[in-house]
Amino acid sequence: MNPLDPLLVILVAAAVVTPRSAPARFPGLAPGAPNGIRQSSLLGTSTPFENEWRITNTDHFDITFTVIAAGDLERIAAVAERAYRRISAGLKHELSLRPLIVVYGTRADVQRATAARSFPGNREHLLWALDTPAVQADGDFAHELTHVFAFDIVPVTVRRVLPSWVHEGLAEFERGEWAASDLGIVRDLLRENRFPALVTLSAEGSTNAHLQRIVGHLAFDFLVARAGQDAVKRVLVSLRGNVTSPIDVYLTSIGLTESQFEGEFERYVRTRFAA
Ligand SMILES: [Zn+2]
Repeated sequence: MNPLDPLLVILVAAAVVTPRSAPARFPGLAPGAPNGIRQSSLLGTSTPFENEWRITNTDHFDITFTVIAAGDLERIAAVAERAYRRISAGLKHELSLRPLIVVYGTRADVQRATAARSFPGNREHLLWALDTPAVQADGDFAHELTHVFAFDIVPVTVRRVLPSWVHEGLAEFERGEWAASDLGIVRDLLRENRFPALVTLSAEGSTNAHLQRIVGHLAFDFLVARAGQDAVKRVLVSLRGNVTSPIDVYLTSIGLTESQFEGEFERYVRTRFAA
């Protein structure tokens, strides 16, 4: 037999025992960590980050924490990914960056870190307090993540001149829920005939933060009711090229003149929210 018979070479090659890969190591679990963690859990696969912080990752985020229960970490990861997919689909945009979710034990810890402007990781971050009630924590996260998306779509030069009803209204719209306290304010405004004109709020820039946020939320609800979900992305994309008149960008996207808009807008809000 020809020693270089191709069939024989193939058989010999197949007979060579493939070296076993080294057993997977259980990376970086701190001594004293709770027992019984699945190897695939985010806590179990977390690695040291900065000082006492550890870090893990999901499809679109890195998550850093000091002390956390495995279940809490899994829940934060699930909520974050769900919010990402919903907002990304709504705005038809994938982030160009991976935000860092910084998990603190309490809201007081978040306030201390914010006051000191001291956070682990020198990058775009989203803060999470473990003692926040779940519904609020999930909504707050969606709100803040919307800001990250808007910042990624609209350049900083434009962002600076946008009235806060655009930023905060969009973020509240993406939160997906109306807070009962905000609804109460809307009803008060309607009952007392004090519903503000959007053009007036635009001229005020970022004063009157509460009204900017609430009326901005209504404005994005109205935009989508009138012009469809795609209109939200159209507004953001149009804002890239027009920094002089954000209100005109909004009105163009909705297909109404200013005088048509104010009447129709208030009628929409009254029909929807009047108690
Ligand atoms: Zn905000």
